[in-house]
Amino acid sequence: MSAQEKATTGKGIRNGEQYLEGLRDGRDVWIHGEKVKDVTRHPGLSRGAQTLASFMDRQFDPALQDTITYEEDGNRYATSFMIPKSKDDVVKRGAAFYEWATWSNGMFGRTPDYKNASLMAFGSATDFLAEGKPEYGENMKAYYEYVRDNDKVLTHTLVNPTFNHAQAQEGKYSDKVALQVVRETDAGLVVSGARLLATLGPHADEIEVFPSTLLKASEENLPFAFAFAIPIGTPGLRLICRDSYDHEKSHFDAPLSSRFEEMDAVVTFDNVLVPWERVFMYRDPLMCNRAFAETNAVIHMMHQVACGKLAKAEFIVGLLCAMAKATGKDKDMNIKGQIAEAMWIAESVRAFRYSAEQQAHPDQRGNYIPLRRPLDTSRNLFPKMYPRLVEMVQLLGSSSLMATPSEADLTNDIAHDVGQYFQTVNLDSRERIALFRLAHDVAVSGFGNRQALYERFFFGPQNVMASIYFDLYNKDDMMDRVTELLNRE
Ligand SMILES: Cc1cc2nc3c(=O)[nH]c(=O)nc-3n(C[C@H](O)[C@H](O)[C@H](O)COP(=O)(O)OP(=O)(O)OC[C@H]3O[C@@H](n4cnc5c(N)ncnc54)[C@H](O)[C@@H]3O)c2cc1C
Repeated sequence: MSAQEKATTGKGIRNGEQYLEGLRDGRDVWIHGEKVKDVTRHPGLSRGAQTLASFMDRQFDPALQDTITYEEDGNRYATSFMIPKSKDDVVKRGAAFYEWATWSNGMFGRTPDYKNASLMAFGSATDFLAEGKPEYGENMKAYYEYVRDNDKVLTHTLVNPTFNHAQAQEGKYSDKVALQVVRETDAGLVVSGARLLATLGPHADEIEVFPSTLLKASEENLPFAFAFAIPIGTPGLRLICRDSYDHEKSHFDAPLSSRFEEMDAVVTFDNVLVPWERVFMYRDPLMCNRAFAETNAVIHMMHQVACGKLAKAEFIVGLLCAMAKATGKDKDMNIKGQIAEAMWIAESVRAFRYSAEQQAHPDQRGNYIPLRRPLDTSRNLFPKMYPRLVEMVQLLGSSSLMATPSEADLTNDIAHDVGQYFQTVNLDSRERIALFRLAHDVAVSGFGNRQALYERFFFGPQNVMASIYFDLYNKDDMMDRVTELLNRE
């Protein structure tokens, strides 16, 4: 039986068509003022779905399977579900993350391996959830196996909308907007309210609704303290999308936004029933606060992210070099120096990843984790480095980013002018326009600007991440050296 056939019969990896079929479930998605009938066919959403489907298909490519999948009990699963039992397993997971990211050059940041990394960690740390109630640990184990066995695509939403900054600073939520439990029934929890933000929401099968913002352990916060997961098509769950950046242009005209539009959506819940078997934490703010750290989910997510950001930074280096070469600027010492800065960024991320993987070590449960500090350094630096990479594309591209007629202009009445006046010493007009339209999609278009915003925020507010980094950093030895010097005779 081939792997493709197996996907239709057994447990494990799914192909693109199976994935797309799963999205046709009557989900309640709104975009551009209207309700979407079918996200796999709707303009602005369909090509993102098709891209992800094509990525799912690659799981059956014999040349890639050893990297991006693994076998267990006769079934073949995505590598991101593999619980690492050795340093080699950590390295294999990193290779799979990197491989997935290269398909979009990091521009489709929310490939399923991101959430799989987190779920694998929770699924192998059920002892932690069982502290709340034994069944919460069992629920998570069953959920991990369900998602892995059916190769489900997950999104997550961790943040309540801020209604009042001062209230949020006190670790409290507004019951006007925040998601909360409104009642309990024999069947489960009933929740209402809103959550920011679910990237990939319209293209996901399931949504994890987990806590991330620190909650005060007060009686009034108990209805806001929970973790659960439900299908996107659950009655009462609605996704309210931003504008699509896929404006239905050709791949030539919009090389990134025509392919890699992973939609972001605000999620609203109107009396949504969450079955008890999908509840993993409830009415325990302190457990909620500890969850991502104590399951090591945050480390495994950082690992996926660093591998993806490496692919992205490498791509920007390639783009800058190609832009410079177009006019022979790549021979200029000053330009070389400018692009070298992008190379330092890419090489820094590569070093962070390598350092973390090579120093992988057993965690408190005997599973392996990459070393946190290099990955944490990467997740704190990249939100600052990516906007700088974008700025470098703008500075090098300058007005060439505006000298970007469309594909149609290469064949219409002005084709002669376009063919003549857009050429450079190293590129004909078609090649030059294609290259700078790509640069435009990285650094100027709505798609490109959303990428920069995503990098700044998707892992959380930068000040919060930096503060956690500071707290975890082993400062004592360094401070001792200061003390020693001050006390020297
Ligand atoms: C493109 C994109 C995709 C995302 N995808 C997801 C997703 O899939 N799932 C998910 O759960 N979340 C997602 N997020 C949300 C992300 O987790 C949040 O944006 C992030 O946690 C910040 O929260 P906030 O947007 O409420 O900003 P706020 O908390 O309102 O902060 C806004 C700004 O104010 C600053 N600020 C706030 N408080 C202080 C203070 N006390 N002192 C100084 N500065 C302060 C912050 O640093 C920040 O710069 C996404 C965000 C973006 C932009």
